[in-house]
Order: sequence, then structure tokens, then C-alpha cells
Amino acid sequence: MPIDPTKPYDESNIFAKILRGELPSKKVYEDEWALAFHDINPLAPVHILVIPKGPYVSWDDFSDRASDAEMAGFVRAVGKVARDQQLVVGGYRLLANTGKRAGQEVPHLHVHIFGGQPLGPMLA
Ligand code: ADP
Repeated sequence: MPIDPTKPYDESNIFAKILRGELPSKKVYEDEWALAFHDINPLAPVHILVIPKGPYVSWDDFSDRASDAEMAGFVRAVGKVARDQQLVVGGYRLLANTGKRAGQEVPHLHVHIFGGQPLGPMLA
């Protein structure tokens, strides 16, 4: 079920559990601001999710409430993961589904990184 973006942050969501170490993930990067791990159902040869460490439901919530330091740290982490994965030369795509009609399923902000193949005009 797509999330209701008007609801407050739910500490029991699956990515909150991954952040707390209660569920496993295939981690590729972690720093003070962000955690990155492989998507469990990859849609491209490289499909990584990057999540902020703070409790933000969506891109909308994050861009409204996060501090400048959290925003800078998170954005830098996304760029670093893409560089570390050697995606820059071949190209990559970022996606943050936001709210119900965009199909956001997990109510903790996550930026998808897709790469490792030519990417069409849109990813389903
Ligand atoms: P959608 O599933 O419609 O793409 P989202 O943008 O909310 O919606 O993406 C959630 C993503 O999280 C999906 O790509 C899904 O495969 C991934 N995912 C769900 N559970 C896990 C998990 N435990 N570990 C890694 N990725 C997960």
C-alpha cells in the first residue's frame, strides 16, 4: 500500500528497522548522515537505496524539516555512493518517489540510485 504522506513518522517502518540494525541489509556505505544498501528487488544491474539517518517520511518532509547539515550530508552521501560504484562515466539516475500517487511504499525517505545499463527515458 502506498503511504499516507500526511501521517507522522512511523518508527516501525522497515528502513527504520534496518537503521537500528533490527533487520539485515546489504550495506554499501554509511556515514554520520546516511546509510546506503542494495535494493532487495533490483530493477537495474546497480540499484541502491540511500536513506538519511534522521526520521523523515519523504523527500517533502526532509526538505522541509531537516537541518542544512543533514541535507548537505545526505546529498553528498548520494553522490559519493554513485562515484564509489563507478557510475559516473556510464551515467546514473536518482529517484525519490514521494507520497501516494508516486507509489512510495516505505515511509522513510529513500533515494533510488539506478545504473549499470543504458537507462531509458523513464524507469517504471
Ligand atoms: P516502490 O516499491 O513502489 O518502488 P518505494 O519508492 O517506496 O516504492 O521503494 C521501496 C523500495 O524498497 C523498493 O524498491 C523495494 O524493493 C525496496 N525494499 C523494500 N524492502 C527492502 C529491504 N528490506 N531491503 C532492501 N530494499 C527493500
